[in-house]
Amino acid sequence: MTVMRPSLRQAPYGPLYDDFSWDIPPQLNMAVQACDDWAARAPDRVAIVDLSGEGPRDITYADLREMADRLALALVARGVGRGDRVGVLRSQGAWCAAAHIAIWKIGAISIPLFKLFKHDALSSRVGDAGARVIVTDAEGVGLLAGLAQVEALVPEDCALPDGRFDTLETGAEDPAVLIYTSGTTGAPKGALHAHRVLTGHLPGVEISHDFLGQADDCLWTPADWAWIGGLFDVLMPGLTIGVPVVAARMAKFGPEECMKIIREGNVRNIFFPPTALRLLKAEDCHIDGLRSIASGGEPLGAEMLDWGRRAFGLTINEFYGQTECNMVASSCGALFSPEPGCLGKAVPGHDLAVLDETGAPTQGEGDVAIRRGSASMMLEYWNKPEQTAEKFLGDWLLTGDRGIWEGEYLRFVGREDDVITSAGYRIGPAEIEDCLLTHGAVATVGVVGKPDPVRTEIVKAYVVLKHGVSASNDLAAELQAYVKERLATYSYPREIGFIDALPMTVTGKVIRKDLKARAASEEAQ
Ligand code: ATP
Ligand code: MG
Repeated sequence: MTVMRPSLRQAPYGPLYDDFSWDIPPQLNMAVQACDDWAARAPDRVAIVDLSGEGPRDITYADLREMADRLALALVARGVGRGDRVGVLRSQGAWCAAAHIAIWKIGAISIPLFKLFKHDALSSRVGDAGARVIVTDAEGVGLLAGLAQVEALVPEDCALPDGRFDTLETGAEDPAVLIYTSGTTGAPKGALHAHRVLTGHLPGVEISHDFLGQADDCLWTPADWAWIGGLFDVLMPGLTIGVPVVAARMAKFGPEECMKIIREGNVRNIFFPPTALRLLKAEDCHIDGLRSIASGGEPLGAEMLDWGRRAFGLTINEFYGQTECNMVASSCGALFSPEPGCLGKAVPGHDLAVLDETGAPTQGEGDVAIRRGSASMMLEYWNKPEQTAEKFLGDWLLTGDRGIWEGEYLRFVGREDDVITSAGYRIGPAEIEDCLLTHGAVATVGVVGKPDPVRTEIVKAYVVLKHGVSASNDLAAELQAYVKERLATYSYPREIGFIDALPMTVTGKVIRKDLKARAASEEAQ
């Protein structure tokens, strides 16, 4: 297949794959990349297809720039300046994008905040970040009501000043955005990123969409823009590459709502988090007319890849990364076939390694690490020098994930804390979950270690069955035999628990620590 590079006006890096090198200027501002540049050269080009209903449908780069400029003036009028942290508490919509751009324009640091956060989640993040002003909407004002010393700025409600605002010069290494991790394993940490972070995402975004930027491409994700996956895997790269981004809000995620957005927005490229794909798969939804689907954030699994081919006529490109350093590995169906169960190859510009216990790169199983120099790597954890120090080992950022190379492909074994130690074996939960998901009775599954006096831990699988399937001892035995036959005798789940639903984070990730706590409490009884 001939691969066309996208319309990215000036790629701030060399060719993908062959002789790749970053070409990041010392002065860089993401507002220029995602907005000002296009507004100057192609003001009428559509930047955002806004189906949220909050304003006009087609937002051009000129519109976006005007919104961001006016908001920037309003922030400056409130005394906000370089290095100040400003929250953005808005759902998908043009003002959400304009708010981040406005904050970067004035050299301040934006903090994406999620509209589903309740009081404590909001106040801990806003308090930790020391944000004084939050750009929000009418609903958000209510959410912020209990937070003292925080000023809510609602662009629609206050008379924004008219006029232009010329984006301030910032360094590529200057802090620009503070994004909190998902909190899957503990309290969320604020990853502080520099202006180069957007550039750092571009190669992985291009690749995971089989070269984003082809004619008629149009990008959408059901993930909220408050997460790195929404903001930097979709919204900002789309704006930078020049691919329109669809903004939409769903009351509840489901196939029909999905189809409607795809139809109304002429969507061709989607980032679906695995949890969204699981829901579509459960309803055996089929969608035609898409050009690319990327997924990441959790293991996707070989079974999902097979189903994706049937349901979309496409190979889903799995990618891997974390809030601290994102888009570092990816598949690219246009260039190479994915290795089922692996999360792809290292994305050009990101030096990925698996380290053994001495900290040396190995071909065997070990800690997944990323070498400094990756453009999407955070500067530090905000306010957490000790956790920042622990995150790095010399030149390497430690992801906290375990992996193993299969040639050039990286296989995800599990998070370090989730790897199960049983009778001297180290067992990754991902492979067992992947295997169980291929069984016809299983809807979703979470595998954890359950404390055991003899074996240290045993493998316990919490299984959610498909509609109409009933739990029974026979079925449990069948599932055990199923894994035993396919994986290894030592790694089959010695216990199966049938439950109604798995504990999930707001971003739809399985919270294994809750399952582990449940398993441990069962043991204690
Ligand atoms: P916290 O750090 O607060 O516990 P979190 O790690 O879930 O939360 P994120 O930064 O959103 O927060 O998620 C990154 C993690 O998600 C990775 O470290 C990895 O464990 C997992 N992950 C991301 N992509 C994949 C993938 N393709 N396959 C398997 N796991 C993935
Ligand atoms: Mg993490």
